[in-house]
Amino acid sequence: MSKYQNQIDSFMKELELKNSHEPEFIQAVEEVAETVIPFIEKNIKYKTAKILKRIVEPERVIQFRVPWIDDAGEPQVNRGYRVEFNSAIGPYKGGLRFHPSVNLSILKFLGFEQIFKNSLTTLPMGGGKGGSDFNPKGKSDNEVMKFCQSFMTELSRHIGPNTDVPAGDIGVGGREIGYMFGQYKKIRNAFTGVLTGKGTNWGGSLIRPEATGYGLVYFVAEMLKTREDSLNGKTVTVSGSGNVAQFACEKLIELGAKPVTLSDSGGFIHDPDGITQEKLEYVKELKGERSARISEYAKKYNVEYFEGKRPWSIKCDVALPCATQNELDFGDAKKLLKNGCFVVAEGANMPSTTNAVHHFVDKKILYGPGKAANAGGVAISGIEMSQNSTRIPLTREKVDSLLKEIMERIHTTCVKYGSEKDGFINYVDGSNIGGFVRVADSMIDQGIV
Ligand code: NDP
Repeated sequence: MSKYQNQIDSFMKELELKNSHEPEFIQAVEEVAETVIPFIEKNIKYKTAKILKRIVEPERVIQFRVPWIDDAGEPQVNRGYRVEFNSAIGPYKGGLRFHPSVNLSILKFLGFEQIFKNSLTTLPMGGGKGGSDFNPKGKSDNEVMKFCQSFMTELSRHIGPNTDVPAGDIGVGGREIGYMFGQYKKIRNAFTGVLTGKGTNWGGSLIRPEATGYGLVYFVAEMLKTREDSLNGKTVTVSGSGNVAQFACEKLIELGAKPVTLSDSGGFIHDPDGITQEKLEYVKELKGERSARISEYAKKYNVEYFEGKRPWSIKCDVALPCATQNELDFGDAKKLLKNGCFVVAEGANMPSTTNAVHHFVDKKILYGPGKAANAGGVAISGIEMSQNSTRIPLTREKVDSLLKEIMERIHTTCVKYGSEKDGFINYVDGSNIGGFVRVADSMIDQGIV
């Protein structure tokens, strides 16, 4: 129990009253409040300026109707959102998620986390997030295009290269970014870096698709270094099989580790011999078709498929949740540690429940929260923005080395703010406080706005 539990409880009580229908947002704030409130109590200028109270209130929330016509000629309606959370250190920056589960609570939690993550990268990017309850699965290319165009028709009023620069997230990859960019350009008659994750022929950065997964593995390598260890020979469980999971696997293989699982919303596969680059190429092709299921892998390579299950019961040294929020609970955390896992790093945003996080920290394993561990994607989005501004594209090698450098820098910040007396590195404290300070100081500099 924290010495500052009363302050934490009363802050959370007020937040819960105001946002009672937003459980994911409350969860994300609580995780930050638990570490940042004790810091604020010792650094009175933040308390005087009421920074925490101000930072949990988005600067702006936009909700809009997205009407479109399906292939059968029927009108359809979805709900679109953009949460412009904090612009203290730069234009709002954060992905767009297209998934039937999308609601304001989920986008506020993602936007809130994004503020700290973007700050940790040291690049000039504020925090935002958006999306829609549109489900791209099972839709034709034409339907996805119609939807994206309608979504952008409204969103284009609110974004811009110096205002708000969205990117991809679950359900939004290169295809969707392309359709949205095309529509923005047509409406505004402007070819600008208004979105990141663009195709490399038209302003995108090399390594952007790989960046979150690669960056995650670079971060894990840094964590292991603190215990004079490396990824070589480690068995790794990975969840998800989308963008982040695929490129995390790719970098794991390159560094000599053995990824043994992948999952999707249907279940997970366990390949005890390890997912090789060749098998991974198959997954990339398979998952390029959004409706395809990971169970196909089990059939093709004759391995076990566990329907409706998550991969945390499989013995491993390192676990990388890379699918979605709250996919790893307290029971999973206990199972992982019992089986010898001593590193958990989050490719997804908030994949571990609050109790699971507490368990990892109590047991002093190497636990890297998403804010720090998956910041590589947005970092390279930031590098894409600067390439768009200068109109000079960088080489693959240059971008990859910048990614590595940024992940190392984030790790150093976590060590700076998260080291405890016994040498344990509390990455939760490290990433929350490290991310908070820069934003809070900038808010103080800019006055009450
Ligand atoms: P993709 O859409 O490419 O892949 C998402 C994967 O997660 C799919 O395998 C999907 O399975 C699975 N998944 C989605 N929802 C659920 C669910 N409710 N239960 C179980 N599995 C689910 O998304 P990304 O790889 O881009 O994103 C994955 C995570 O990483 C998200 O939390 C995202 O916010 C985070 N992230 C992504 C970044 C990026 O650059 N892309 C940057 C930083 C964080 P199925 O195919 O069955 O839907």
